[in-house]
Order: sequence, then C-alpha cells, then structure tokens
Amino acid sequence: MDLIVAGNRDDLAKARGTGSVALVPTMGALHEGHRSLIRAARVRADQVVVSIFVNPLQFGPNEDLSRYPRTFDADLDVCREEGVHVVFAPSPEDMYRPERQVSVCAGEMGAIVEGASRPGHFDGVLTVVLKLFNLVRPDVAIFGQKDAQQLAVIRRMVADLDLAVEIVGAPTVREPDGLALSSRNRYLSARDRAVALALSRALRTGAAELTAGAIRSTARAVLDEAGPDLDLDYLALVDPATFKEVDDAYEGSAVLAVAARVGGTRLIDNVVLSLRR
Ligand code: AMP
Repeated sequence: MDLIVAGNRDDLAKARGTGSVALVPTMGALHEGHRSLIRAARVRADQVVVSIFVNPLQFGPNEDLSRYPRTFDADLDVCREEGVHVVFAPSPEDMYRPERQVSVCAGEMGAIVEGASRPGHFDGVLTVVLKLFNLVRPDVAIFGQKDAQQLAVIRRMVADLDLAVEIVGAPTVREPDGLALSSRNRYLSARDRAVALALSRALRTGAAELTAGAIRSTARAVLDEAGPDLDLDYLALVDPATFKEVDDAYEGSAVLAVAARVGGTRLIDNVVLSLRR
C-alpha cells in the first residue's frame, strides 16, 4: 500500500479508512525512537497517521526553531519502511491562521520543571496536540516517555477537556552507551557526545539509590563530575502525574528528570523509578 501524504483536513478525510486510527505526533528528523512509537501504534489500530510538523508555538524566541533539523524525504522513507498509512505534514500557515486568538493553557503544570526553563513551551505543545487530535481524529495517540512532562501535561489535557483519545506512553529508546535518542543529538560533536553521556549515567546511578534524598545527591554528584562542559539546567525528582517534587516520605512511582546544555545543545532525559519507604 502506498504512503499517503496529507497537508490538510480534506486530504486526511480522503485518506481515512473505516477502521481505528493511531496518531504519532512528531517534529520529523525521525530516528529509532520515533520508529518504536510507530510500531506501538501499528499494533493498536488499523491505520497509523504520523504527523510531521515543527511547531513554532513551542519554541521560545532564543531557541532552535530555525535550525531544527528538517529531513522530510528521509522521514517519508522511514514511514514507508514502518508501514505508516498517512503522513500529515501541514504548513505552519495552514496550522496557524494570522487571525487566530485561542490557545490551550497548560496551567501550573506547564510552568514548573521543564516549563520553568521554557516559558510557554507546554501551552504551544498542548495547542498543537489538540489541533492534531481535531484534524486527525485518532482513537489512540502515542507519545514517548523521553518527554515525560509532555506526556503528563497531555494526559492532564485529555482528562481536563474530556478528549476522546487514548494516550499511550512508549519507553525511551537509547544508544547502546545509554544516550537517549533525540533529533538534536546530531548537533553534538564527538566530545560533546562523551560529555552528554553524564545525563543517562547520572539517572542510572541515582535510580539505584532508595530514598529521594540519596537519589538526588547521587545523580547530582555524577553530573558535577562531568565538569564545566555540562551546563546543568535542572535535576528534579517528581511525581510522574503532577511533576511536583517529591519528598523523602513519598511512596510510589517517580520520575528523575534532567536537562542540561552541552556545547550549545539542550538535552533532556529521565528515568521512571519506584520509591518505597
Ligand atoms: P519529537 O519529534 O522530538 O517532537 O518527538 C516526537 C515523539 O517521539 C514524542 O512523543 C517524543 O517523546 C518521542 N521520542 C523522542 N525521542 C524518543 C526516544 N529516544 N525514545 C522514544 N520516544 C522518543
């Protein structure tokens, strides 16, 4: 079956079959992590739609929107190889009309941890995700655990706005040495890449500890060892649903999340762990 490339709602309607639809939202520059999401989508629905859209709304004024990697032809090859039915690739002009006014607000959850470093980022994410849901009308949508706070705010939006979409989180795909795959990894020099390994190493080492305090301090020590080439933005141990910091009395699932700049590239990573008193 041929891959259909759709640019607007009418194209999507024509491409739509009668069965269930799974959506995998992406910004392109597809890698093994995106492939794993597509595979998770394929087993959950009759038709898989991958959206490829570099969403200007989720980039801050000093972020990398203009240099974000765009590899559309290679992305189509990946989608063909993975048995995707439809690629939805709207233009920014089609997505955002000049007269638009209304957008989604992520609330308090969008202003902490990653949201504190990137004001407005999660409002931009939720606005585009809600638009994609309305355009594609999926039964299920797959998001990576790699962007753990994004997954949490999307689940919050689905609950708060009563959206009829099932949200599935998929595990983070890593390089054999632990580095989480990211479209931004291509910006890293060999030296940057070696420094960047401290992120996943810190998460792994921290996750081996038992209490919140020990997890934070052990992970922090590994990040400190990386030296000045790693510019730490935050290290946070949070409740996976609210992204609020947990204390030593907390029991249950937690996310240890880190963000840092290495050679001008901002990287994020996290692990899910279980805390017991
Ligand atoms: P992006 O294209 O970076 O916006 O990511 C699109 C989707 O792929 C998001 O749901 C991400 O969480 C997910 N994703 C990105 N990197 C990975 C990874 N290494 N493993 C699994 N999913 C990922």
